[in-house]
Amino acid sequence: AEEVGGGDKEVVRQYFNNDGFQRWRRIYGDTDEVNKVQKDIRLGHSKTVENVMKMLLDEGPLSGVTVCDAGCGTGCLSIPLAKEGAVVAASDISAAMVAEAEKQARDELLQSNGELSPGLVLPKFEVNDLESLNGKYHTVVCLDVLIHYPQNKADAMIAHLASLANDRLILSFAPKTFYYDLLKRVGELFPGPSKATRAYLHAEADVERALQKVGWKIRKRGLITTQFYFSRVVEAIPA
Ligand code: SAM
Repeated sequence: AEEVGGGDKEVVRQYFNNDGFQRWRRIYGDTDEVNKVQKDIRLGHSKTVENVMKMLLDEGPLSGVTVCDAGCGTGCLSIPLAKEGAVVAASDISAAMVAEAEKQARDELLQSNGELSPGLVLPKFEVNDLESLNGKYHTVVCLDVLIHYPQNKADAMIAHLASLANDRLILSFAPKTFYYDLLKRVGELFPGPSKATRAYLHAEADVERALQKVGWKIRKRGLITTQFYFSRVVEAIPA
């Protein structure tokens, strides 16, 4: 298979505006146009979203809480956050993803009269590379995006996300412990060069070290696994 990616953001952007957009929109959606592997990834990812919503809600209601959803994809997390009354800033490097997320958010959040339920705010959507984000949010979340970052780029990425958060940062990544498992399955995960970007797995210790370097510590951990999907979720807070 072609070795693409590395730190090549342009490749990732291209992928998620084209083949990757089509593929992941189906996986993250609810139609039948998915094969068995994709269906399994859909299930795993939806468990990650549930797990993160629970982690967040366990600390109190989200109404009025500002949340930055970096690399929002089709809005799988932004939309449930908005349904809880969070004030969401959702962004993604892919314009196609952002357009889809915005469409889905309007479909799901607006009532038939075109208005929002009282207390809800439509997420603010933006096409943006997460390194270019600025501002301060109560909470920053970044789900299943680290897979596009080699470890030497991940530290700076984690540091930047932490700098945007006042109270907590939630990250999910494919843990390196499952490397050999994943290798066996990677053929099915990324079937063919045209559909592939490189997938980077991360050791939990490396992510933890990157957080510690900028004065953050892990408060909660979750692990989501299905047959073809592995995701470690960590919630970090200022140390
Ligand atoms: N976070 C979403 C979720 O869990 O439903 C989407 C996860 S999807 C596997 C990865 C997303 O990260 C894609 O939508 C991709 O465009 C986005 N992405 C990758 N690199 C990015 C970057 N440097 N800045 C912003 N978004 C990025």
